[in-house]
Amino acid sequence: MTEQRSDERLPNPNGCRWCGVDKQRHHQRWAPEVRWHGWAEPTGEQRKHRMLARRARRQAPGSGATDRLAS
Ligand SMILES: [Zn+2]
Repeated sequence: MTEQRSDERLPNPNGCRWCGVDKQRHHQRWAPEVRWHGWAEPTGEQRKHRMLARRARRQAPGSGATDRLAS
């Protein structure tokens, strides 16, 4: 079961490579891998994965776009 909730926020494709936070509001952050760190440029691979994840999220079947059931 790897299904994620649709309201979960995905990181910006250009967000920090360690934590996904935008550069403008990053400052010092803590991440498990690197602990305290400044914003770091994401790798091309990370950008690609994030963009694909966003697209998949938007086009995910059953995410509410087509099956709006009034309860
Ligand atoms: Zn970070």
